[in-house]
Amino acid sequence: MTEQPSSLGTASDEFLEAMLRDAELPSLMPALAYLTGDLELVADDVRPVSNGPTVVLAPQGGLTPDQQHLARRRALAALARFRDGGCLAAAPPTSLEAQRALLSFMTGPVDDRYLPMLGFELGLPDDVDAPDWQASALGPGRSFRVAIIGAGMSGLAMAFRLQQAGVDFVVFERNDDVGGVWLENRYPGCRLDTSNFCYSYSFLQRDDWPHQYSLGSEIREYFQEASDKLGLRERVRFRTEVTAARFDETAGEWEVTVTSADGGAESLRFGAVISAVGQLNTPSFPDIPGREQFAGRSFHSARWDESVDLSGLRVGVIGSGASAYQVVPSIGGSVGSLHLFQRTPPWTVPTPNYHAGLAPGLEWLFAHVPYYHRWFRFYQFWTSVEGRRDFAAVDPEWTKPGSVSAKNEALRQTLTAHLLAEYEGRPDLQEKMIPPYPPYGKRMLRDNGAWARTLTQDNTELVTERIERITPSGVLTADGVEHELDVLIYCTGFRAFDFLAGVEVTGRGGADLHEQWGSEPCAYLGITVPNFPNLFCLYGPNTNLVVNGSIVMFSECAVHYVLESVRLLLATGHRAMELLPEVLASYQFRVDEANALMAWGVAGVDNWYKGPSGRVTQNWPLSTLEYWELTRRPDEEHYEFL
Ligand code: NAP
Repeated sequence: MTEQPSSLGTASDEFLEAMLRDAELPSLMPALAYLTGDLELVADDVRPVSNGPTVVLAPQGGLTPDQQHLARRRALAALARFRDGGCLAAAPPTSLEAQRALLSFMTGPVDDRYLPMLGFELGLPDDVDAPDWQASALGPGRSFRVAIIGAGMSGLAMAFRLQQAGVDFVVFERNDDVGGVWLENRYPGCRLDTSNFCYSYSFLQRDDWPHQYSLGSEIREYFQEASDKLGLRERVRFRTEVTAARFDETAGEWEVTVTSADGGAESLRFGAVISAVGQLNTPSFPDIPGREQFAGRSFHSARWDESVDLSGLRVGVIGSGASAYQVVPSIGGSVGSLHLFQRTPPWTVPTPNYHAGLAPGLEWLFAHVPYYHRWFRFYQFWTSVEGRRDFAAVDPEWTKPGSVSAKNEALRQTLTAHLLAEYEGRPDLQEKMIPPYPPYGKRMLRDNGAWARTLTQDNTELVTERIERITPSGVLTADGVEHELDVLIYCTGFRAFDFLAGVEVTGRGGADLHEQWGSEPCAYLGITVPNFPNLFCLYGPNTNLVVNGSIVMFSECAVHYVLESVRLLLATGHRAMELLPEVLASYQFRVDEANALMAWGVAGVDNWYKGPSGRVTQNWPLSTLEYWELTRRPDEEHYEFL
């Protein structure tokens, strides 16, 4: 190809035609219609056909080659007209009909209730959640400072919105940089297994992602750049750990105790405390006897020991969840021998482009066609919104083991066929690789063949015998074999249910948050808790997503609810708001009931979504739309105001 033009204005038809070969058409057509005002571009004859419930997205929305040709021709003509007209964007279409036409082109017919949520996710024409109020105007003279615990994905979003509204805040972060889990997880092969076009803020969308599934370093840099670009870094107190928070009933304020890197403790006062500590920050080690006796090097995947050179060594990995699934293929080629201790095999969704860079044409179009990347992001988001929920929903009449409904069983068959094909010629592995639990009982992993390639290498041993104990020289399994190792890596997950671990939280009447929660944390919408006025949680209990939507979007929803709560406090002059226990009780009953009817909630399926009692403490089981609607603003009737 000849030299790339620096702008759309100087691109020739031939060049545009070449770029369009890499375009993703289901999102390109509405993007161009929005840009040019020509709604004919979202015509039925090029409408994606497979935007309904699906696990594996059909390429180009299932358009036939002829339809794709037609769409590209129209797109080229639209781009040429736009270029020749001086690259002037049309006024954003504001009518309901136009919005419906653009969005439903990608989504298929949807209830109008979805439109505000979809507009928010798209971020066009405006950032819907940007506050239209200022603290100084609502509560003149009132000092209301907020403490945010954690500068990861949720904490930064909260900080940004508070900053926009002019609410004073401090972020406390125990690490020396922002990024949360993406800072802490530095194991080889770490990358997003959700499209980064969804795993990014609606208010800070990027047109230059190098991959669709970002490397860990890329998503870490995204959060680091976000904190710089949005002016948040200077509001973060790094290497400062919150150790306690106590609600002072007389003053109606929180007294927060922090410990700095030099060990000095300090007590500070805040109007509200916002926990943004996430769910996956406390490594979980298995309760296997002898762990302390291992004489080699050992560490958890989330605390990777970069001083250990694994080349040529005998390396054991315990676990076969999302972390192991990325670690194992990345180290398999360089270690002397790899011993994978797998208790339960994972279900995997075929994703051939998992590690691929973006196609050059698509990259160029994102950079030069205004807003196209937003529509692409939107399509990624939409196809994972409510569409996949049905695959995980339990049919109470269904009795076949290994699945929870006819739809879940059909998915099981498809995924089983995929796994059997991957281990063709290795009946020993085929037998061990089909999960006994229903698809979506645990997190589904993305598969581009790398896991199977590593497991079939000569230097890899798959061990499925139960681990009896860890010895000074390795791992002893129940069949009496001692697997000798130099290094042992724990890919054994996190104590997810242990929200706010390490922080003593005392509410009204001396209530202790950890005692109140025990091993069954619950919060209304994952956000507010009775007895703890003005304590708000982000990505709190029951807000993790398995099949529908994006956790960044969910965090933004919670951020919005918290911001609206702060607005309410400032506007009414109340010092604090406390959730009524009966509101939590009826909400939690509904959530628990719904979780029990999802593949991850059924008895006999173990996963990190359940606490030790077996109740699902982590996941949101209802629709994405419902969470969006419930988090638009706090209902004053749900709270006692102090
Ligand atoms: P995990 O999914 O909880 O997996 C833990 C693994 O350790 C499981 O295979 C488990 O086996 C095994 N295990 C635990 N105790 C054991 C024992 N005593 N003996 C043998 N095996 C044992 O943890 P994770 O892989 O760290 O992933 C946690 C979550 O983090 C993911 O679900 C995902 O949400 C997130 N994550 C995301 C990404 C990404 O986006 N790219 C990457 C990594 C993690 P059983 O299944 O039999 O219990």
